[in-house]
Amino acid sequence: MQAWSKISKMPAPAIRKMQNEQLTKMLSEDLAVRHPHYRELFKEKNINPADIKGVEDLDKLPFTEKKDIVAPEDNPEHPKKFVLDVPGEDELKPKKKGFSLFGKKDTGPDPSDYSFFTLYFTAGRTDKPVPIEYTHYDLNNLKEAGARAFDILDLSRDDTLINAFTYAPNVYFWQMFYSTIGIGSTALQTGGGKVLGMEKILKAMDSMEAPAMAIAPGYCRFALHTLEHFGFSAENLERIILGIDYTPMEAVDRISKLMEAVGAKENRVQRIYFISEAKSGWAECAPGFGYHTNPDHVLIEIVDPDSGEVKGEGEPGEVVITHLDAKGTTFLRYKTGDIATGGLATEPCPNCKRTVPRIMGDIERKSLYFDLKGKDGTVSFNANELRKVMFAREDVLLWYAEINSGDPEDTLKVVVKGVSGTDEQALQKDLQEKLHDQFSIPVAVELSSLDAVANTIGMEKFITEQTILDKRNS
Ligand SMILES: [Zn+2]
Repeated sequence: MQAWSKISKMPAPAIRKMQNEQLTKMLSEDLAVRHPHYRELFKEKNINPADIKGVEDLDKLPFTEKKDIVAPEDNPEHPKKFVLDVPGEDELKPKKKGFSLFGKKDTGPDPSDYSFFTLYFTAGRTDKPVPIEYTHYDLNNLKEAGARAFDILDLSRDDTLINAFTYAPNVYFWQMFYSTIGIGSTALQTGGGKVLGMEKILKAMDSMEAPAMAIAPGYCRFALHTLEHFGFSAENLERIILGIDYTPMEAVDRISKLMEAVGAKENRVQRIYFISEAKSGWAECAPGFGYHTNPDHVLIEIVDPDSGEVKGEGEPGEVVITHLDAKGTTFLRYKTGDIATGGLATEPCPNCKRTVPRIMGDIERKSLYFDLKGKDGTVSFNANELRKVMFAREDVLLWYAEINSGDPEDTLKVVVKGVSGTDEQALQKDLQEKLHDQFSIPVAVELSSLDAVANTIGMEKFITEQTILDKRNS
């Protein structure tokens, strides 16, 4: 990765030129020669990497999908096929000496850039978690991506931060960890609810007088609602950075209002969008202005999720990533399964003026688009929309939804626990009506206890809560 001061101001045509150069280099020097999967694939499909002159030729290359990278039962080593081989001795040229050191570097690939350092895993929401290998080179890029995200968020070393992202071998926690270390701010790496628990996280926020907290959206709502119960104050809290789980604008609004309600000093809410496979997360300068990506690290395409056709500026579609500057596990045209409802914007950000490509709108999970059995044929159900509805409500504390098979049609059961002091019967009735109007499937809303809902969604057990449960095949 290059200097952020340069990249963040680079005009779109210069970014494209840089990406063309990086892509052809990545293809010829790494993917075609030392990437077991792509080396084989190019041979099998008769693809000559030299035919790819730049980004506009990318559609000549096939996509990589989740199913390609998940290890089959009988071959746990399979994800290794996506890891670049360490260059052999024969590729190394003699090291330069004397004055020639000042000339252009031509010592060949440096094996230490390719040597294994650590593994972080994908979230494993829809499939088994996939190990993503990082080398020292990648770790430096992760640190740089983290530093850039903090610059975009406008966080400085004066901002004491509570990192309440769940501790796990994943990019979410560790990018945040390295960002705070890099910037030199006072930070408490809580490990999230799974490690420290709600009470201690809130206590730390209060006693450290922390102005900033990084936390998953559902857990954040729960935290702000239970603050009073524990008797802690949010009077020094100025902002919350939401990440790990997809954060629709409804969640931003809800959290912002809740901050106001609990007496926070300010009610600024920002979002980070992490993709494990991209080996980094991207921040928004302010909600709605898009996730500011790193064009010298990862190339973003937005494509039609079904046909694969590359979409134009601002058109919604699936986020596809290609590594331009990575070692270890690397991907070419990897379909993330995430839908960007506002597509990709390449004009400068109207808010912060940075010129990097931005992923716009909300991120929806393709795996939450369901085809259900209806009375008169298939009915589409977008559970991402249900998440938005549930985030927007002031009276919902915790919830989950079950999709059940039925005859003559599939049904939806939504189980809720209301915010303390809510008339739960009224909540049940109102929610029942609203969901019935919005979704064309039979909906039943049920009330349940805090413990029962928390248990079902895996609060403080999973990396984030599992609120949409497809029970049709169980
Ligand atoms: Zn911006």
